[in-house]
Formats: sequence, structure tokens, C-alpha cells
Amino acid sequence: MSLLVVGSLGIDTIETPFGRVENVLGGSATFISVAASYFLRPIRLVGVVGGDFTQNYFDFLESHDIDLEGLEIVKEGKTFRWGGKYHYDLNTRDTLFTELNVFEKFDPKIPPSYRKTSYVCLGNIDPVLQRRVLEQIERPRLVVGDTMNFWITRKQEELKKTLKLLDVIIVNDAEARQLTLEPNLIKAAKQIITMGPRIVIIKKGEHGALMVTEQTIFFAPPYPLEMINDPTGAGDTFAGGFIGYLSKMDDTSDEALKRAVIYGSTMASFCVERFSLERFKDLTMIEIQDRFREFKELSKFEEEVRV
Ligand code: AMP
Repeated sequence: MSLLVVGSLGIDTIETPFGRVENVLGGSATFISVAASYFLRPIRLVGVVGGDFTQNYFDFLESHDIDLEGLEIVKEGKTFRWGGKYHYDLNTRDTLFTELNVFEKFDPKIPPSYRKTSYVCLGNIDPVLQRRVLEQIERPRLVVGDTMNFWITRKQEELKKTLKLLDVIIVNDAEARQLTLEPNLIKAAKQIITMGPRIVIIKKGEHGALMVTEQTIFFAPPYPLEMINDPTGAGDTFAGGFIGYLSKMDDTSDEALKRAVIYGSTMASFCVERFSLERFKDLTMIEIQDRFREFKELSKFEEEVRV
């Protein structure tokens, strides 16, 4: 099985009530591919960075067996940069700045060896670029796409064209409402299904994740963490765990999709424990499996025989 991840690689500055970090590794494709690498290796990564993307970042990606053949390096350019600030309600954040830099002229080129890839995850980048990726590859088994308010506001028409090509869309609750103008999330998800994807996943930050298909509704509880340091990348990490598991199993049945939602939630719960991608420096598969099992316990209950 093979998995291609396309998206942003970035340098972030993040402020939360629990600390502030400057110039740390970030980007949608970074979180997705690192999370997915716990399930399948190597991960095929397509993106762009500038000359300021330092060797320690390359080393970190390589330590997770991420194949960098499709990573373009624009030596004279600057890497995508993003700044965000979170308040005590960690579900809401202010974007302090978005500098597209090398992304402004980025035209994704898929290496010939990647053209046959069974699973594709289109991380949060310009929806026009997301489509350009799909034009260059043979029809995969499953295409998962992510987006954010930035693109819903600026490129909604382009985003709607991209939606038609996705099997799964992953958005957060605010983005689902923004895209559909529908306050009820179940109705919003059903409306998004009419726009193209057959599976809609709505992340609700600290409150879990909801998967809606035409036939089913599945809800993953949040993992009850007592300390969240930095929610940045949780959504992308969710996407990485989700598609990483599906591609490893090569199974897109309803039951596999439900387990994938739990693996996505499991990976995201680790991500938020530390700033940036710090938690993935020492995270082990044993810890992942233990937490996956804890998720099962969290909402397991016996049916009463008689009330
Ligand atoms: P998440 O918290 O899952 O939404 O992802 C946060 C990551 O997305 C950060 O590491 C940023 O570098 C990256 N990011 C923020 N805004 C954008 C954007 N407009 N396009 C692509 N990536 C972005």
C-alpha cells in the first residue's frame, strides 16, 4: 500500500495560555505525514520549503521515514510561515499572520514514481493546488481532503470544485458551519455530502469528532487529557492517523472507517500534549495502542437488562 500526502510545510509561531514558541516546525503536510508514519512507511510527501528550512527539520522528517523525493526546495525563497494565538478556550484561535511565501508560486509536481498511489491525503493548501495534484495521478482508492477557514473565505468556489473530487472531507465545526451556513452539524454534514464527499468528518476540538456518511453517524469521544499545551496541528494529526490506519489495512469498510476515526483521535490527543511536533520525537506504537484501547473503554457500557 502507498500513501501520498500533499500540503503545507511551515514554520510556526504559537502562543497559548501555557507558553509561546517561535519558529517551530509546522504545516499541514508535516503533521499528517508524521502521524501517518506510525502506520505505514515510507510516506510520500509533496510540498515546498524555502532555504530557511533547516537541517534539523529535514532530519526529523527522515527519522519518521518520510520520503522527500517530492519535496521542492526553493533555496532563494522563504518557507510558509504562520502565527496563531489561543485563548483559555483552546477551541478558538486567532491567526496572527499567514505568509504564503514559497507557496505563492508553488505548482505541485508529482514524481513519476508517485503517480500510482492508492491513498491520498490532501492537506490544507489552496484548493486549486489540491486539484492539480489529483490531475497528475491515477485515480486512487481513497482521497481525503482537509481545508480551513482561510480557503473557505478566500476561495470558496475553487474549494467547491475540489470537494467534488474527494471521498472524505475533514473540517472542524466552525468550518462546516461556515461552508454550509447551517448551524446544526448533522445537517451541515449532510449538506456537505451533497457537495461531493461521501464521508464527512467534523472535528469538534476538545469535544471529539463526528463522522457522517449517507447511512451512518459515528462519534468519537475526546480523550480526557488534563493538560493541553498546544492544539496546533491536532486536526492534521487526526487526518494522518485516520488515513494512515486505512492505508495500512487497505480497508475502507464502515467498521474500518470507525476504527480510523479512533486512531485519528488517538494521534491528535498525543499531538496537543506538547508544542509543535515535540510529542512525536519519542511517541511509541505501544503508547498509541494503549490509548486506542482506552478510547474503547471510555464509551463502553453494559446494556441494562431491566429498567
Ligand atoms: P491545524 O491546527 O490542524 O489547523 O493546523 C495547523 C497548521 O496548519 C500549522 O502548523 C500551520 O503551519 C498550517 N497552516 C495554517 N494556515 C494555513 C494555510 N492557510 N494554508 C496551509 N497551511 C496552513
